Amino acid sequence: MSVNKDISVVFVLGGPGVGKGTQCSKLVKDFKFKHLSAGDLLREEQNKEGSQYSQIIRQHIKDGTIVPQEITIQLLKKAIIGNQEEYQKFLIDGFPRKMDQAVIFEEEVIPAKLTIFFDCSKDVMLERLLERSKTSGREDDNLESIEKRFDTFVKTSVPVIEYLDKSRHIVKKIDCSKTVDEIYADVKKAMKDII
Ligand code: UDP
Ligand code: MG
Repeated sequence: MSVNKDISVVFVLGGPGVGKGTQCSKLVKDFKFKHLSAGDLLREEQNKEGSQYSQIIRQHIKDGTIVPQEITIQLLKKAIIGNQEEYQKFLIDGFPRKMDQAVIFEEEVIPAKLTIFFDCSKDVMLERLLERSKTSGREDDNLESIEKRFDTFVKTSVPVIEYLDKSRHIVKKIDCSKTVDEIYADVKKAMKDII
């Protein structure tokens, strides 16, 4: 099976804790999008009994580094194919965050129509992550992993956003220092051609 070339894919990017998942959930309530979080798909695979990738995924998530692209792309591709009969529009949350992922996904799966980039200061992200850590139960919502995730974001993921902006011209930047509802209004504006 292959991915239907008529679907629309939107990348949703931004540093850790910026609110990607929160905004995607709001979009899903109002519009017919399938929300695929790369991190959630990886955590699901990690917890699947007998998965050959459990250990490698767990280690990367703890270290805040990027799981080898073939694992993540395979999970995303499978999830798109499994939903493309019902959905025409997909939010791909937290992906691509390394250059090889971006290039290979767009070549081998499908080019994205748009990238929403949530721009946020490190202080605000840290505050949101520490708040989330009280209830998330996530192995990487602790100060040590959070520092590593910030580091990976700056060194590895920001160049991807620059590439999508300067070479692909598909980035819309959203200021995330506002309230959830104000940000959502900006998101809807940025996505008006897709929703
Ligand atoms: N991750 C990865 N490849 C991806 C997306 C996520 O390796 O394409 C890993 C990475 O280790 C990252 C972790 O999954 O730190 C958690 O990602 P998630 O998107 O859930 O975190 P968020 O940025 O939303 O806090
Ligand atoms: Mg997330």
